[in-house]
Formats: sequence, C-alpha cells, structure tokens
Amino acid sequence: MDWSKLSFSFTPTDKYISCEYEDGIWGKPVISSDINIPLSGLAPSLHYGIECFEGLKAFRGQDGKIRLFRPDENAKRMQSSAAYLGMDAPTTEDFTNLCIMAVKENERYLPPYGSGASLYIRPVLFGSGSQLGIAPAKKQILFIAVAPVGSYSGQGNLVAVNGVIARKYDRAAGHGTGCYKVGGNYAASIHAGQVAKQQGYKAVLYLDPIEHKYIDEFASSNFFGIKDNTYITPLSNSILPSITNKSLEVAAKDLGMKVERRRVPSEELAEFKEVGECGTAVVITPVKSIDDKPDIDASECKCYTYGGIETCTKLYNHIVGIQNGEIKDEHNWCVIL
Ligand SMILES: *Cc1c(COP(=O)(O)O)cnc(C)c1O
Repeated sequence: MDWSKLSFSFTPTDKYISCEYEDGIWGKPVISSDINIPLSGLAPSLHYGIECFEGLKAFRGQDGKIRLFRPDENAKRMQSSAAYLGMDAPTTEDFTNLCIMAVKENERYLPPYGSGASLYIRPVLFGSGSQLGIAPAKKQILFIAVAPVGSYSGQGNLVAVNGVIARKYDRAAGHGTGCYKVGGNYAASIHAGQVAKQQGYKAVLYLDPIEHKYIDEFASSNFFGIKDNTYITPLSNSILPSITNKSLEVAAKDLGMKVERRRVPSEELAEFKEVGECGTAVVITPVKSIDDKPDIDASECKCYTYGGIETCTKLYNHIVGIQNGEIKDEHNWCVIL
C-alpha cells in the first residue's frame, strides 16, 4: 500500500464488526469479512432516518504503540445522538472495546508512524427490523468499519480551501438535530454542497438557523477563527460538538492562547487573522477565503480573505504530536492498545 497517496476514501479491509440489539439486549459482536449486512427493506433507518454515526482514529505512534484518540468522547456522543432518536447506544466501555476489536482485526491496514496517514474508524448505529409505524426502532444494528486514510484531499495536510456562506440553506433546524451526529443532517446538506461545488467552493459555512446572523459551522466540520492570540469558536445549540474542536480549545490554552466560545457574528469574519475548519478527518483545514453572498451562486459578493496559516499549523502539530505519541499526552486523551 502506498500510504503517502491515501486520501479520505474507502479502502476495503479484512474484517467488519457488527452487533445486533433487540428488546434491550446487545448480542455478541460478530466479526465478518463481508461488508454487507442483511437488512429488512422496512428498516426504520431506511424510511425514517433512525441512524447516527461516529468517526474516530487510530494512530501508530513513534513508540510503535497503537493509540485511539478520545474514544470515550465518541462513545458519549453516540449515546447522546442515539437517545434523541429513541435508540440505545453501547456503553462507553463496550463502544471502546468494539473499536479496539475493529482496529486489531485490521491491524495490517494501520498506516505506519511517520506516514501522515491513520486508520479511520466508522461506527454506525441504525434501526433494523421491519417496521411501518413511526416509532423508536425495536431492533438495532451497530456496525463498525475501518479504513486507512490520509489527508482529506489526498494532497497533503494544511492545504487551505475556499469557502462560501450558505445564506439560503440551513443544515439543521434551530432546535433540531444539529447537535447530534445523525445522517439526516448530511442528507440535508447535499444540495447546498453541490451548488457550492459547481461554483468552485470546497467549504460551505452555515449560519445559525434562527437569525442567520451568527456563524454555526461548516457542513461536516466546526469553525474557528484566530485573532489577538485568541482561539474563537461559535457557541450554538445547532452545531455538532466536535471532539477535535474541544481538543483544540485545550491545546490553544496549553500553548498560551486565550480561548473564547461565544456567538460569532458573520461580520466578524473581517477581523480574523486565520480561519479554519476542524474535525477528526483532517484535524485542521485552513480556510483561505470566505465569500458572503445573497445565495451561493449569486454574483454580488463580500469576500473575506486570510493569508497565513501560522497558528493553524502550530495547533495542528500539537494535536498530531499527541496522537503520534511525540508530545506528552497531559490530558490522557489517548487510549493505548
Ligand atoms: C463529525 C462532525 C464534526 C467533527 O467532529 P469531530 O468529533 O471533531 O470529528 C463537525 N461537524 C459536523 C457536522 C460533524 O458531523
């Protein structure tokens, strides 16, 4: 495998884990070399979107050991998403152990230390069984796949992208599912994403869906801005609580910066020195420009541009250093296998 050429796309691996749930009881995990799972055509996940997922990573460290980055946080977030959808997620301990099992069963796909690549773990929990009525799912399946991944673009890390504000679209409602990692939020962002892509944009930035005044987040990653040695990230109940963002807030403090989590009016885009997207897939993607237009394909445009990536790089190196075992893990984020 050419680890240096990996992007964020799917590579089949040896084993997949699945676990069935019925009447309040989880069955034993099944390890299979088949990625397909038999599913009723009337599964409530297919009809009503009763589905949530997670994304986390395993890294091969400088010391040769395998590290999982904050799996307990993913477990808790899946519990929160599942509860909103009327499902039961695995306990934090079971979730972590199943992720470890998925990594161990596919260890030969774990990229080596120094390759810049890692093993992405994708657990998904969904309503199975046959059900016509709109009600919580009686049966569920937890399925876990892993995939070796490199940078999102396949062109290396910290490559800055251009973005656009989606003024005419919301990804989630103001008091809806924005703070849960459910597939429906992604389905709701596909159209705006396609329009943005046609216009040549890589990142779509959503505003708060109630007033459309404040910055929420990008389609699949959180937003942060840097000014006056301060890391600023939006406070909103319609954004996904990113574990990377939470870790960056701590990293910024550890590196002597100030941290603010508050509402961020869109006009403040003019004041930031750097802007970035953050999430598990890439840690940080610097943003070089954000266009604010009446609609994504409008010609009228207020354009914000950002030059440097100095702070983004510093924060990125700190998090990646902890993930690779090069920097002391002061906050006990990593689970070492
Ligand atoms: C998963 C996700 C993120 C990133 O969260 P991490 O825990 O940092 O990976 C950000 N925004 C949305 C909408 C997401 O689904």
